[in-house]
Formats: sequence, C-alpha cells, structure tokens
Amino acid sequence: MSKSQIAWWCAQLLCVGVGVSACTGSPPEESPRASRESTWEHFLSQVHQEPGSGVYIANGDEPFSDVTQLRAFYDAHVNTANVGTRQDGLAIMVRNGARARWTEAEKHHLSYCVSTAFGTRHATVVQAMSDAARAWEAAADVRFVHLSEFDSNCTASQLSVVFDVRPVSGGAYFARAFFPGDARAVSNVLIDESSVGRTRSPSLTGILRHELGHTLGFRHEHTRPEAGTCFEDSRWEALTSYDAASVMHYPTCNGTEGWSFTLSPLDIAGARAAYELPNRIGILRPSGLAYIQEQGRGTTWTLVASDVQALALGSDRIGIIKTDGNVYVKEGSLGAAWMWQTSNTQALSLAGDRIGVLHHDGIVYVKEGRLDANWAQVRSDARAIALAGDRIGVLGNDGQVHVKQGGLGADWVWQTSNTQALALTDTRIGVVHNDGNVFVKEGDLGTNWVWQAANTQAISLSGNRIGALYTDGNVHVKEGGLDAAWVWETSITRVLSLSGDRIGALHNNGDVYVKQGGLSTNWTLVTSGATDLVLSTP
Ligand SMILES: [Zn+2]
Repeated sequence: MSKSQIAWWCAQLLCVGVGVSACTGSPPEESPRASRESTWEHFLSQVHQEPGSGVYIANGDEPFSDVTQLRAFYDAHVNTANVGTRQDGLAIMVRNGARARWTEAEKHHLSYCVSTAFGTRHATVVQAMSDAARAWEAAADVRFVHLSEFDSNCTASQLSVVFDVRPVSGGAYFARAFFPGDARAVSNVLIDESSVGRTRSPSLTGILRHELGHTLGFRHEHTRPEAGTCFEDSRWEALTSYDAASVMHYPTCNGTEGWSFTLSPLDIAGARAAYELPNRIGILRPSGLAYIQEQGRGTTWTLVASDVQALALGSDRIGIIKTDGNVYVKEGSLGAAWMWQTSNTQALSLAGDRIGVLHHDGIVYVKEGRLDANWAQVRSDARAIALAGDRIGVLGNDGQVHVKQGGLGADWVWQTSNTQALALTDTRIGVVHNDGNVFVKEGDLGTNWVWQAANTQAISLSGNRIGALYTDGNVHVKEGGLDAAWVWETSITRVLSLSGDRIGALHNNGDVYVKQGGLSTNWTLVTSGATDLVLSTP
C-alpha cells in the first residue's frame, strides 16, 4: 500500500491504530464523514491486509482475523447511519456495549515476548518496550511482563504470552496494536522495521507508548468531536475531558504535542480511572506487625507480615525488610505470595517495576522487571536510596547526592553535598541539608536548586507537591510550581508521606491521619498505635 493510499484510507477510515505512520503525511483532505458513503467493496479495497497473517487492519490499528469479522465490523460501524454520531464523553474502547479493558486478574500479567527476528535491534526494542510499559505502569494499576524465554519462538500462536511483539516491513504503519479482548492470533504489537532505531520523532519508545495505550483499551483521542477532525467512530466512552495533548492524539489531527507521544496529566488520570490503583496506606505497629488498608475498598486493616522493620509501597507492590534483614516483595492483591529478594538489607525502595535495596555494607542493588529479575550493583558507600520513575538517587556516607536517569547503567550525575535526606519524583529532586535547609530542583538533572524551607528534618515529594516536616513537628505542604505558597497542615508529626493527592501524617502519639484532595481538605483519623507510616506511590 502506497503512502498516498494510506493517507486516503486514513482520512476515510479513521486510522484507529494502524496508523501512527498512516497519518504522518499531510492532513486528511477529505471529510472523514465521507466514509458513510463507502460501499463494502470500496471499503474492502482500502483496508490494509497484513502479508503473511492475512489479518485485516481497519479502524486505525484494529486487527480483524478474517473477512467475516471485517464484514461484521463494516455492517455495524461503517455502513450505518450511526457512523458519525457524536456522543458525549468517551475515550476507552467500547465493544458490544462494554468497555474493552483487562480484568482485575489480567491487568497485572500483560505478558509479552519480543521476537528475536528483530536481530541486532532486539535489545533496542526490548528496552523501548520496557520504557513505554513503565510509563503506563507508573500511571495506573497495570503491569506488562516481558517473558524473554519465549523471544525465540515469539509468534501469533505463542500461547504462553498475552501478546507478541514482532517486526514487519513495508511501511504501512509505524506500528500497530490491538485492544483487550481481541483473539490471541491478532493480539500483536507489530513494529515496522523503519520504526526501530529512529533518530527523529516519533521515537520508537514514543510510538510504543501510543501503541501500549491501545493495548490497554484506549482509543485515539482525536476521535472525540472536540478535535474537529479525524473522527473515527463512536465506540468509546470518555474517561476524562477532551485532551489535545494526549499520547493517543495524532498531531496531524489538531494535537498539541507534536510527535513526542508522552503521557499527559489527563492520560494519567484517565488510565487511573480505567485501572484504579489501590491507594494503599501501610503502617507498622509495635513488635513489627505490618498492616495495610486499601482506601475506597472499605476500612479493613489487613495484617500482611510480622517481624517487619521497614515497609515500602509501590503502585501495586508491597515490600518489607524483616528484622533479620531479609527482603520480601509481593505484587498485585494483598493476598499475593511473598517472593524473597535479598538479605542483609537496611533500606528498600520501590518504583514501577524497579526494586532498590541498600545493604548493610553500603552497596546499592537495583533490579527491574519481574520479581525474579537479576540484581545490578549500582553504587557503594551509600546510606540512603530513593527510586522514582526511571531515576535512582543515592545519598552517600560522605553526604554527597548522586542521581542517574534512564537505564540501570546510566551515568551518575552529582547533585549536592552536606545532605541528610533525599526525595525523588520522576521530575523533581529534593534534599534536606545537614543545616535543615531544603532545596528542590525540577526538570533535568542539571537544573538549578531552588531553596524551599529551613529548620526541617524530612521532606516528601509527589507530583507537583512538596511536603516539609519541620524539626518542631509542624507539617507544611505546597502544590504547583517551586515558588508556590506553603500551606500549614498539622503539627506533632513524626512521619510525613505524600502520594498523589493524598497526605499522610503519623503523630507523635501513634495516631495516623490521612487526607485526600485539596491541601485544605479535612483530615481523617485512620488508626492509632502506629510506629511508622507509608502511602503507596501513584
Ligand atoms: Zn493508534
């Protein structure tokens, strides 16, 4: 299929998925509504059929395994007066009246293989898939799992994975994906060879962020009427208000973010609405009993472990350091099985699919991916660690702070010295200097520090919030830019934890208070008798 054909087809038929590249050309010149007049024969002649598999791609990047399925789609969605109907609010795929989404049981095990047919570019694709998956995992309660043992037999009939990632050639699209509920045979992420090793936008990782959005059920944002063009069909429901900056919005359809294909704040909110994170509160009680409550799922406290000296909560992972220094982590539900990780540990940090540990000898190890992944030694002579997104921060025994961003092997970037505490988000770094002054920087690792507060003992960062715990036990939080105004929150506090729009405070008397929403929302007393507090990271 030639580029011009693709552009025409895209304009006519919506480009649901196939089409990242399908829409890279000039903007559609014909009204998308012209598709209403398409005949079946004309429709069929314009639909891309993948060589080899024979799979038809229509409605963007949606696969149809045979002509019968394709005809059913045509009858239901192309050759009807309903096409072009503007409904309110939609953005997740709707099929047969129901949202196309992964179930609670499925959403933590979105396993895939990456075909070794990528050859010398296999590692590049593996890394790009991992990076794209982490972006969605950080936003919502989903987990993609690369099962590399199937890479050498990674086909559409590989039943040991949920989907396969394979190369195609021909340039019909940059990549195409599928939606939850599609048959295994068409549950593929197919990447055109021209998309691998790209040196200009969109990057392969950006393309895959977009495609993995489809695999979670998300439609092209530009199918919403507010885009004013590129309407596809009405089989969607809105998760958020219209968002021209969405990773699911083509720039050629009045999108505002070019080809960067990064998750916007509304993408994160929408993904969270579809795949809600548990919003956990974790506490320790005397004698090392660890309890967790899942907000919005009742007020029950579940005992998850005993003999615990430290507790860490990721998005859907729970980590503990036992009093003997052994580390265990579980993922998914509270009742999931613990998996032993390492021993001899004094500190633990979880972020997405990464686990970081600080051993008693000052050596820092990090693993990423599955719970049974191998450890990589990343630093020595450390006394504290922090993980967030694709960043790793280390506070050295000498008070120096270093942070790296990207893969585990990325270069360390020196940040500051004379530091007693460290906090990270994927865009901010915060430090408490030995003299109690707090500094935060925002943006890349080389930006300047901005002074925040004095007389502090600890800080907590989450999104665009900064929380400061003063040496006198008062807590102040600011929201927005680094120059935002502080809002007093509470006093007599010894532990502060920020997570998304939640703030948690453990008072000196063991009472635990949590608030959710604006900075001036009322506090809720959630329990008493706690010795430590942590909120799950969004
Ligand atoms: Zn797409």
